[in-house]
Amino acid sequence: RAYNFNAGPAALPLEVLKQAQEEFVDFAGAGMSIMEMSHRSAIYEQVHNDAQALLRELFGIPSNYKVLFLQGGASTQFAMIPMNLLTPDKVAAFVMTGSWADKAIKEAKLFGQTAVAASSAADKFNRIPDLSDLQIPDNAAYLHVTSNETIEGTQYSAFPETGDVTLIADMSSDILSRPVDVSKFGMIYAGAQKNLGPSGVTVVIVREDLIEQSPKSIATMLRYDTHASNNSLYNTPPSFSVYLMGLMLKWVQERGGVAATEQYNRDKTKLIYDTIDQSGGFYRGFADPSSRSLMNITFRIQTEELENQFAKESEQHGFIGLKGHRSVGGLRASTYNAVTLESCKALAEFMQDFQKRNG
Ligand code: PLP
Repeated sequence: RAYNFNAGPAALPLEVLKQAQEEFVDFAGAGMSIMEMSHRSAIYEQVHNDAQALLRELFGIPSNYKVLFLQGGASTQFAMIPMNLLTPDKVAAFVMTGSWADKAIKEAKLFGQTAVAASSAADKFNRIPDLSDLQIPDNAAYLHVTSNETIEGTQYSAFPETGDVTLIADMSSDILSRPVDVSKFGMIYAGAQKNLGPSGVTVVIVREDLIEQSPKSIATMLRYDTHASNNSLYNTPPSFSVYLMGLMLKWVQERGGVAATEQYNRDKTKLIYDTIDQSGGFYRGFADPSSRSLMNITFRIQTEELENQFAKESEQHGFIGLKGHRSVGGLRASTYNAVTLESCKALAEFMQDFQKRNG
């Protein structure tokens, strides 16, 4: 298999793919694939409820939160959040950390007032801003953070204390990569296609009192209470994606859970960050060391020509997805949960060898 460092959709564990392959044509002896079954059948409902229960257990989700399986990606949440939670007398506050925070702000602006509580724009988004100096308006409906900026490769090492203000996090690119105190958040959401499984399902973890706030005037499908009161079965769910997410969650559980996963991720990324730091300046990490991501390692080489050569040669050696996002350039290795230590070791060795040949 390729050394898959794609940013998303991203690598899935081989064990998960093999199990899905085995069960693909005939699921649980039903004589049909899970994707051919009614979403109202007992077999599918079990798959759906088991995935929910396992996510609750692994991520330590308190009982006063609902776990929703929605569609439309994290991008739809950029709109659903203000539609459901922002009223005309309130302001949606954001920590502006880069490309994804920017998209979330732009979308919220379509629905009401917004404010930037802190920004690292002056540092070209190479770090998470100083959280001790957040300017949260008194009438903030919520503070929105992007826990991991996938494109810039920065990640919060701790989340802000917001007092009475509801904290909402886009965890699309680092959910389940490390333990999180869910009770600090009013809502956490994530597209599944990086750490949770394939694309097609978006996980929303939302505190019950927030669900009750949905105004009655918004479209049925875009209201949290519609999905909460129907166990995310109001309409046809992305059943195959939910099934695969369930397999992925079992895989995380079998490997010791989220804390063990974090340690594995730290071991993996250390190999690559150490290679950057010990390269004498040949490789330059983009993110400030205080804000380095365990999920997306962004780095540069002295010239664009060498970066292009790196991208090309790395592909010839079986490494996929190392070109940086088109908006920022450079190189990026995405090291989500399913990316193996062996892949990271191979990449570190390739980087060292590339430097020897071109340094
Ligand atoms: N937020 C973050 C942090 C992301 O990395 C992404 C996708 O890459 C998104 C949001 C958008 O997710 P989706 O494609 O599921 O809408």
